[in-house]
Amino acid sequence: MAIKLFIPGPTVVSEDILAEMSLPMIGHRSKKASEIQKRISDNMQKVLYTDNRILLSTSSGSGLMEGAIRSCTAKRAAVFSVGAFGDKWYKMAVANGVPADKFSSEMGEPTTPEMVDAALSTGKYDVITVTHNETSSGIQNPVEEIAEVMKKYPDVVWLVDAVSSAAGSKIETDKLGIDVLITSTQKALALPPGLAICAMSQKAYERTAEVPTRGLYFDLRTLWDFIDKKNYQYTSTPCLSLMYALDKQLQHIVNEEGIEARFARHEQCAEFTRAWADEYFRVYPNRKYLSKTLTVIDAHPKGCSELISIPELNKGLAELNMQLGNGYGGLKDKTFRIAHMGELCMDDMKEITSAVVDVLKLK
Ligand SMILES: *Cc1c(COP(=O)(O)O)cnc(C)c1O
Repeated sequence: MAIKLFIPGPTVVSEDILAEMSLPMIGHRSKKASEIQKRISDNMQKVLYTDNRILLSTSSGSGLMEGAIRSCTAKRAAVFSVGAFGDKWYKMAVANGVPADKFSSEMGEPTTPEMVDAALSTGKYDVITVTHNETSSGIQNPVEEIAEVMKKYPDVVWLVDAVSSAAGSKIETDKLGIDVLITSTQKALALPPGLAICAMSQKAYERTAEVPTRGLYFDLRTLWDFIDKKNYQYTSTPCLSLMYALDKQLQHIVNEEGIEARFARHEQCAEFTRAWADEYFRVYPNRKYLSKTLTVIDAHPKGCSELISIPELNKGLAELNMQLGNGYGGLKDKTFRIAHMGELCMDDMKEITSAVVDVLKLK
């Protein structure tokens, strides 16, 4: 029996989507390949509330994060970090020789609109990056408030890491004015890992012309131009199997479950998990900014000064065919993470939370 994953990616993939991955290959320059890619693009635009160009990359989400900061920064990037994945974006900039400064919040705290305004008012930056949903701390950043600040800086290109929230949490890309929104397949989209997806604005595209060395494989301009010229195809051979699966999954999300219903299901699971965490532990991050796709929980049981052992907890859960996430980065062994993203539903959340109570003998 497959182990039920409550880790924040990869998430559980449904049987019919897995079956899609075993279909025969087609030529990646065929008309059929173009049709699949066009349908993916149309449905992805609906899920992300955007008319921006959808670009796919055969890589995990990190590939397009690296490509975006490199392709779009002509002057200097302001990287706002609320944890491990914001830090990673800064490292990518440094590793590529992209001038950048990092603006960190304390763990468990958000990026505030005031921080963004203060950085941009210096006039030093032409790009900002924001993590929509920080998978290490369990914060969802206030992008609506940040969007208000961004209106004052129309020349700044706004990059958003929505790897662990897109398709699980509503992000109105065009209304917010996000220029490049990035996600990948193995989180709330509930597919195997291996494809990254972004929605890119005309403004971001135009910016890339000012950047002389953008790399090649992850160059957003090359991807954009190729899709234009070659009728929704890619510069190199894409992971067709994952594209079949993504195509099918997006049809399921848009036409069967419904986008709004999907978000409501994530919200309901989040509320349930937080309430459970409050009863036995403590929700780790600032409560005003809680993620809708995962809950990060302080590993001290209520009224107890000793941490639980998360590896031991997972050993107990493994016997019940379940697994949850240890903390990430500096929060390892100090917090644990329960994902409620992708195809997980209320019954699953009841199952994992009561299993944790049993394994730890909390009752
Ligand atoms: C998982 C994750 C990433 C990295 O994505 P990959 O697809 O593993 O490269 C980046 N940012 C956030 C917020 C994530 O949760």
